Amino acid sequence: MALETINPQTKLEADVVIIGSGAGGASVADVLTKAGIDVIMLEEGPSVPAEQAPETTAKAFTVAWRHAGITAALGRPPVAYGEGRCVGGGTEINAAIFQRTSDELLAEWAQRFKISEFSPEAMKPYYDRAASVVNASLTQGPPGRPTDILIEAGRATGWKTSMLERSQRGCVGTNACPNVCPTGGKQSMSRTLLPQALNRGLRLFPDIRVRNIRLENGQAAGVEAEARDGSAQYFVRAKTVFVCAGAIQTPALLQRSGIGGAIGRTLQMHPTFKVIAEWDEPVNAHLHRHPLAAITEFMPNQRIGGSVFSPGTFALSLAEDWENRKNLLQRWQHFGIYYGMIRPRGQGAVRALPILRDPLVSFRLTHGDWQNLTEISGRLGEAMFAAGARRVIPSITGHPGWTTMAELRRDLPLKLPPGRTNLMTVHLFGSCPMGENTQACAVDSFGRVGGIGNLVVADASLIPEAPGVNPQGTIMALAFRAAEAWLAQGARNVSAAA
Ligand SMILES: Cc1cc2nc3c(=O)[nH]c(=O)nc-3n(C[C@H](O)[C@H](O)[C@H](O)COP(=O)(O)OP(=O)(O)OC[C@H]3O[C@@H](n4cnc5c(N)ncnc54)[C@H](O)[C@@H]3O)c2cc1C
Repeated sequence: MALETINPQTKLEADVVIIGSGAGGASVADVLTKAGIDVIMLEEGPSVPAEQAPETTAKAFTVAWRHAGITAALGRPPVAYGEGRCVGGGTEINAAIFQRTSDELLAEWAQRFKISEFSPEAMKPYYDRAASVVNASLTQGPPGRPTDILIEAGRATGWKTSMLERSQRGCVGTNACPNVCPTGGKQSMSRTLLPQALNRGLRLFPDIRVRNIRLENGQAAGVEAEARDGSAQYFVRAKTVFVCAGAIQTPALLQRSGIGGAIGRTLQMHPTFKVIAEWDEPVNAHLHRHPLAAITEFMPNQRIGGSVFSPGTFALSLAEDWENRKNLLQRWQHFGIYYGMIRPRGQGAVRALPILRDPLVSFRLTHGDWQNLTEISGRLGEAMFAAGARRVIPSITGHPGWTTMAELRRDLPLKLPPGRTNLMTVHLFGSCPMGENTQACAVDSFGRVGGIGNLVVADASLIPEAPGVNPQGTIMALAFRAAEAWLAQGARNVSAAA
């Protein structure tokens, strides 16, 4: 990819500046550059091409993840979360599972959030386009033992299990998804939409962090930015600003720019509970593709699936309770990491703080969410034993684990202690929900920020609620839609003003 470096002397100007190069930003760049619009894209993180993919997850954390992967939403319990921070954003480090939000949920959102021109039929072409870009497809050949474990669990419990489509082209199964794909088999944004947009004239500058959007006479006039290491400052003038910095950074950036209201008040996520499970025979999960199946019997409110496994990610799981679990490291080839994920009703918030670079993020689970988590955690344990596990250890600090199904069942319903239960998520959304329902929405049906005609949000922030499925496909679909809506209206304004 031909990326550019900003010379501080250069006066940068474009019709559109896009902040962020992830699923949302790349999809906007695709639409706009195809229409011949002059676009600059600023990305806080570095470019990490396949040839330079870090060899270990620990190294990848420092290169391609925000804050080396150590970020948490405050609450009881706090929820650890992960965000990409590199060219291509989260799509470079994600597991590449491609899913569509169900038609029922899309129809419900259209009604409840009063989203104009939004229906399952209207969204289908956008989803189809996203699926085609990333070549969403089932993996050919034997999926490997970590997947077989979930399939066996589904068979033994009678719970519905589904194979998952992934964004892939010639994936050889290095099992290094969180490290940035070393072969380019994962069809992330740096392998698909970004190089195509660069060929059409996109100017993409990595390592540049936007501090705030400059408003003049109530309109966006451009963005104030700095080199990530703070060594240089820039102003990029633009007639329209697309904010695609992700569900945490987008609201923080808007708030830093003086835009408040409902922005950032309704953060959503998929809280996720993990277990490590041990088998008598080696699983050798590090040698196989990460689990490509999920137990979907309890969707959309609960899903059971599996995580990428490496010695490093296993050691991280043990680190939750190192004193009690460190001896398990010797048998690491016998373990797998599996999760239960819920679709919550609780909400969180993102608040930019004066002086500080990072926002305060919080999330509050409702009583119902906690019950949902309790239930899925028990089911997750049952699934593991049904697939022949000899020991299952939940992500609860100080918990000794169970060695039989009978032992687990005696503990059901599980009492998850809020102070010792470790939750995490890699799915964040809903911080600027779209729609015309002014009670619930922060931006209009197409991502336009209220009253500011030339400022548009187009990323995970728009998804009004937790979709219960992996979100990248929905983010791309919504970003295509927002960019096309802007073209239909905004492009006329650009040419009129020129
Ligand atoms: C480990 C992991 C696994 C996942 N697995 C899956 C999966 O299998 N399937 C799926 O569908 N989803 C998955 N996801 C989620 C998915 O990747 C994200 O939902 C998606 O990438 C979000 O898209 P986005 O455009 O909203 O934000 P991002 O893709 O996060 O892009 C935002 C970009 O903006 C940049 N940025 C932020 N602030 C600024 C600023 N001030 N100035 C300049 N640039 C800025 C960031 O550096 C980032 O690159 C996973 C995520 C992670 C972290």
